[in-house]
Amino acid sequence: MNQTATARSWVEHANGHRDFPLQNLPLGIFSRPGQAPRCGVAIGDAILDLEAALAAGVFEGAAKAAVEATRGGALNAFFALGRPARVALRERLLVVLGEHSEHQAVLQAALYPAGECTLHLPARVGDYTDFYVGIEHAKNVGKLFRPDNPLLPNYKHVPIGYHGRASTLRPSGTDVRRPKGQTLPAGQTEPSFGPCARLDYELELGIWIGQGNDMGQPIAIGDAAEHVAGFCLLNDWSARDIQAWEYQPLGPFLSKSFITSVSPWVVTAEALEPFRCAQPARPEGDPQPLSYLLDQRDQAGGAFDIELEVLLLTERMRDEGLPAHRLTLSNTRSMYWTVAQMVAHHSVNGCQLQAGDLFGSGTLSGAVPGSFGSLLEITEGGKQPVQLANGEVRKFLEDGDEIILRARCVRDGVASIGFGECRGTVVGAN
Ligand code: MN
Repeated sequence: MNQTATARSWVEHANGHRDFPLQNLPLGIFSRPGQAPRCGVAIGDAILDLEAALAAGVFEGAAKAAVEATRGGALNAFFALGRPARVALRERLLVVLGEHSEHQAVLQAALYPAGECTLHLPARVGDYTDFYVGIEHAKNVGKLFRPDNPLLPNYKHVPIGYHGRASTLRPSGTDVRRPKGQTLPAGQTEPSFGPCARLDYELELGIWIGQGNDMGQPIAIGDAAEHVAGFCLLNDWSARDIQAWEYQPLGPFLSKSFITSVSPWVVTAEALEPFRCAQPARPEGDPQPLSYLLDQRDQAGGAFDIELEVLLLTERMRDEGLPAHRLTLSNTRSMYWTVAQMVAHHSVNGCQLQAGDLFGSGTLSGAVPGSFGSLLEITEGGKQPVQLANGEVRKFLEDGDEIILRARCVRDGVASIGFGECRGTVVGAN
């Protein structure tokens, strides 16, 4: 595959684009004013309409079948086709969007400025599962409650997760209504009801499931990577005061299910191939994973090196024309379990995964200040406010605050690619 740093597109603004150069080619569902949602590919600041490109006759064979599977305003059927369809489409797009393409004239008419389009969720999500594989986050949060013993005893044996709520997944740009709920205010013995006072973000990697499995047929760890279609950014908005009161003994419930934001572009497993890396060695004394979670190929190349960033833009900063404040800079290398281990574990009991299911990684924090993926960790539960350049302070999010997630992959000799943004602005409770 032509993924070298030097491969160029005739779409000039794609060359050197921070997120969407020719080497990325993420898929998404977009619409133009008054038209039905359809599949597109991000290229620079434009979107290539695959249906229009198909009508122009640039696809045949397996690539044509792949495009036909993207119809209907959701990518579930395309995801279900697995890697061969993704590869066929990608290889053809690298040619027809490449600088020596014979199809420039016909495809020019199928390109729209991204700013004129609306982006939607890329698939109809049957089930959404949120994991907890960011070990530094687990330690940081554990420390707030158990300073001497931050990690619970199961953490290094089981990829921990909970079943989330698919119905409130929303694409980037959707406002985040401050939830109301039940909390136990500090120093009180009886709960109160009202707007969340400790609203937080969680920086996560989203994982789109490709081919599913039959109920009762676990996905073996060695096959698990074949069941992943692509990746996105995910903000697991969290109401910490509601969470603290409700979470025992069954885990998060209403503190998480009011909205979960996802970035609209599916960065395919193929585009991320150059940014795979070895799973960091487990520290001396950590247990080896059980055999159903252990695969040498996965250990050698199943992790990812993706730089992750969180920015905060308050209403006042917007009014004053100030740039966004960086809250977090971290990396997916802090995942204690690989994506393949998450897939293998999720299905090991016979649970059925289906094309278009979505996983969240769990909050991906680093080990040092500046790399924490939530305000809960940055402010130590609200004790150490964040100081902003214009004099504002934040313990948790206030109405009007916008959170922006970004991700970027950088490696010598390979074109850098990004994920686009996952944005959300907090609006007041009803
Ligand atoms: Mn989470």
